[in-house]
Amino acid sequence: MNMSSKKLKSVINDDKNFLFQNYGNRQPVCFVKGDGCHLYDQDNKKYIDFFAGIAVSIVGYGNRELTRALQRQVENLMHTSNHFYNREQNEAGKLLNEVSFPGKTLFVNSGTEASEAAIKLARRYGLSLARDRYHIITFTNSFHGRTFGGMTATAQKKIHEGFGPLVPGFKYLPFNDIKSFAKEMKKNRTVCAVMMELIQGEGGIEIAGRDFVREVFHLCNKNNVLTIVDEVQTGIGRTGTMFCYQHYGVVPDIITMAKGLAGGVPVGAIHAKNFLPEFLPKGSHGSTFGGNHLACAGVAAVLRQVKKKRFLENVNAVSGYFFEALNELKKKVDFIKEVRGMGLHIGIELTRPGASLVPAALSRGLVINCTADKVIRIMPPLTISLKTAREGMKILERQFLDERQQ
Ligand code: PLP
Repeated sequence: MNMSSKKLKSVINDDKNFLFQNYGNRQPVCFVKGDGCHLYDQDNKKYIDFFAGIAVSIVGYGNRELTRALQRQVENLMHTSNHFYNREQNEAGKLLNEVSFPGKTLFVNSGTEASEAAIKLARRYGLSLARDRYHIITFTNSFHGRTFGGMTATAQKKIHEGFGPLVPGFKYLPFNDIKSFAKEMKKNRTVCAVMMELIQGEGGIEIAGRDFVREVFHLCNKNNVLTIVDEVQTGIGRTGTMFCYQHYGVVPDIITMAKGLAGGVPVGAIHAKNFLPEFLPKGSHGSTFGGNHLACAGVAAVLRQVKKKRFLENVNAVSGYFFEALNELKKKVDFIKEVRGMGLHIGIELTRPGASLVPAALSRGLVINCTADKVIRIMPPLTISLKTAREGMKILERQFLDERQQ
């Protein structure tokens, strides 16, 4: 046994002995260092990262501005709680206001907690209108988190399995089907909100149609129903605009976010139009860690970078390259069914399961992901250069061409 497999074996043993095994089959690698858009494993082998820790590490690894801001904050003050005013939280809220729509922000610690906050806000808003107005519509194959509210909002049976009874008050409708939505809105007066992803990330990079979204928003506005857009995966520059809703010419009442918001520091948030915060008054919701000094120093350091014009220009330039290269690859590989996405949120749908491509690409030095069984997901750090994107694509191409021959 060589040194490398020995080191990894011991890590795998400790994982088995000391940790829950809820993550199933982890990939056979343990990253110990990152630099830009590269990761290094236990044996110092270098990888190109097309995954960014599930769309989290958006400014790459060792990003100077983020690292300095966090270092300064760790030395100075990490946490005091929401019993006190917090300048870093104010700054992060101010920046979110600048890059989205006029409104107010509530900070939490994760995507699923952002879903919970949005659900609680929508419920209290709805119940202020009528005693039975508490239903929230979500769409098939959505993903909104793993806590009870987020999990129930997630319209996927496999996520619910074994956890019943779920939270009452959710109604699932088919995604991208305006007829069924319009019908529901006509007959159901108990709906307080609609919650949706504009690109279903965990659902396989399924994109909401522009007409569908605009009509949903129109009907919601007409019926006093709140629009909640889950930007946990699509937000903070991932799709080539600061938020994905900005592609659609609509303005949601509430957006939820997390993942890339502080580039790797766990934080989430909801941002809501100015008429809404009064429905979560004093004492109605809160979190010990939510928006602490450290997390919010991270948020501000990330947002200051993403809002620069050249940051999103890079996302769109590299995105253009990926779509061109992947569509070329599709011509050569018959098991690629479709390439779709926006910005650096890209899915390659296969005609067969794709899980085996992940460890194969990994052994060649490329980190990718497979979601919804058949969709290879490409979502690198948003700071990725064209040069690194090309290098990674070469590896991916070789892997696809080899698989074609098997
Ligand atoms: N919403 C969406 C769209 C997501 O993709 C995710 C996670 O993948 C979540 C919510 C839950 O986020 P978290 O894992 O931070 O709780």
